[in-house]
Amino acid sequence: MIPIAKPYLTKDEAQSAYDTILSGWVTQGPRVQEFEEKFAAYTGAKYAVAVSNCTTALHLAMIVAGVKEGDEVICPSMSYVASANCIKYVSAIPVFAEVNDQYNLDINDVEKRITSKTKAILLVHQIGMPADIDAFRTLCDKHKLLLIEDAACAIGSAYKNKKIGYHSDLVCFSFHPRKVITTGDGGMITTTREDFYKRIKLLRQHAMSVNDRERHTAGKIIFEDHLEVGYNYRMTDFQAAVGIKQLEKLDFIISERRKIAAKYNEAFKAIPNIQLPYEKEGYFTNYQSYVILLKQGAKIDRNAFMEQMLEKGISTRRGIMTAHRETAYKNECKGLSLPQSEYYSDNSVVLPLYYPMQEEDVNSLINAVKALLI
Ligand SMILES: *Cc1c(COP(=O)(O)O)cnc(C)c1O
Repeated sequence: MIPIAKPYLTKDEAQSAYDTILSGWVTQGPRVQEFEEKFAAYTGAKYAVAVSNCTTALHLAMIVAGVKEGDEVICPSMSYVASANCIKYVSAIPVFAEVNDQYNLDINDVEKRITSKTKAILLVHQIGMPADIDAFRTLCDKHKLLLIEDAACAIGSAYKNKKIGYHSDLVCFSFHPRKVITTGDGGMITTTREDFYKRIKLLRQHAMSVNDRERHTAGKIIFEDHLEVGYNYRMTDFQAAVGIKQLEKLDFIISERRKIAAKYNEAFKAIPNIQLPYEKEGYFTNYQSYVILLKQGAKIDRNAFMEQMLEKGISTRRGIMTAHRETAYKNECKGLSLPQSEYYSDNSVVLPLYYPMQEEDVNSLINAVKALLI
């Protein structure tokens, strides 16, 4: 059976976690700080703050952005449901907009949905393909909105020669095993703003005025205060120890993933009535997922394709979900029609792509896809 994805974890990560366990400092300690510094250096961001996962990163981003009850935040429905949920956590309203053929927000549709209540745009770099950050920045400036990036999938992707994480005030990443690098679970927020940086660091640890490291190194007794209602969104030092090793391998993993994607692109380009992923000029994807769209006229439909791939021993997944059709959102979204998003979601499929994927598996996948679609 060829799996859909596989994390690339080796003895390096195990040793790093082992050493950290024996060091005695197991949460929010020196490894976390090191991981943050290395992540900031990698992305070119001024600051990075590690948190428990990307969903908590997005929650904190909403809070520091000042998104409050009744505010509207425009986001895609076609995304993992956490993108919409984080808006709900601050009692704001997710306003779902359409996506383009790269499965990223359609800027014209977004602009139509801006109202006097709109506070921010949550720009998702779907499956690792960067969205047009500059265009959205211009739109946000014009309407005085905040731009928040959901870069859960986009670690190591780049836009106009700069890594995702560099460009804006709040960028949130995930280290879930389904992403390109993993810490088991984990997340990171990068920011250019010192005020955001300071507040995120407070909020992730109960808004405690003195952090563990300061207390530990103070050499005298100090009592902490809790400055506002905070959260426990800490990352552990075991996770950070794994993350440091994963980050060292990130560019290598991406270049290997891109080689496999290039083989798929070459092999599938002659198949009629399907749409392959493509990079526009200045865009660089980490190929976190390789998605093909089976358009009208394709030899078989998406679900039949998935079933037959399974029979051949190859896992696939349905394309990216839409939040507005999930039970949690169905009621409030009654009457909302997003035909593009629904079409892409219902007719696309994710193919296996991971490192190290054996060459024979790559070839048998290519042959299976061709046999079913040509
Ligand atoms: C995976 C994912 C998330 C959630 O990340 P977690 O680390 O699992 O919380 C959020 N948004 C998008 C677009 C994702 O793909």
